[in-house]
Amino acid sequence: MKVVLATHNPHKVTEFGGIIAATRPDLEVVGYDGPEPVEDGVTFEQNALIKARAASAHTGMPALADDSGVSVDVLGGSPGVFSAYWAGQRKDAIANRDLLLDQLRDIADPHRSARFVSVIALVHPDGREWTVRGEWPGRVAHEAVGDGGFGYDPVFVPDGQSAPERTVGEFSAEEKQAQSHRARAFDALVPLLVDL
Ligand code: IMP
Repeated sequence: MKVVLATHNPHKVTEFGGIIAATRPDLEVVGYDGPEPVEDGVTFEQNALIKARAASAHTGMPALADDSGVSVDVLGGSPGVFSAYWAGQRKDAIANRDLLLDQLRDIADPHRSARFVSVIALVHPDGREWTVRGEWPGRVAHEAVGDGGFGYDPVFVPDGQSAPERTVGEFSAEEKQAQSHRARAFDALVPLLVDL
């Protein structure tokens, strides 16, 4: 059986390909180059389902899609699904995180709690649909530190570290992969793939 991945991000294709190969080596993973739906959901689940439904409808295959971002408690869960363009449609990662730091400038550490969220949707052409969610709790730093990773990594300090605490921008790729919201969502996806 084939599964279509509704993402153009080569990094995500590799990540998804790896987890699928490890779980279901009989599944053939193919990329998606059909029409892009409008991502007008207001939750990660809605947007992941919008993308997976479009890919499944266009190809007739089971489809996987993900949606992710950072949710800050004191901002009521924002930037959330707007993480990629928080500072405007140009999707400038540095402007996005600088705006977030500015919005939290007067907020003390105990109130800077946040989480990275990754939701993966699986849509089968027979109409069955699933979503799984991975969360990585932490807090927003006071300034960007480290140049590893991407997006909000340099301003996110995961919980559960011994001192000195670091941002994800200071993590190695392996450290991030072992703990991240995406890794947690992948863990939750495995039983669904086994049953597919
Ligand atoms: P998307 O899921 O590709 O639409 O990504 C949404 C946005 O969330 C990205 O552009 C980043 O700003 C942010 N984001 C998602 N995952 C991460 C992460 O692992 N580190 C840092 N930022 C992330």
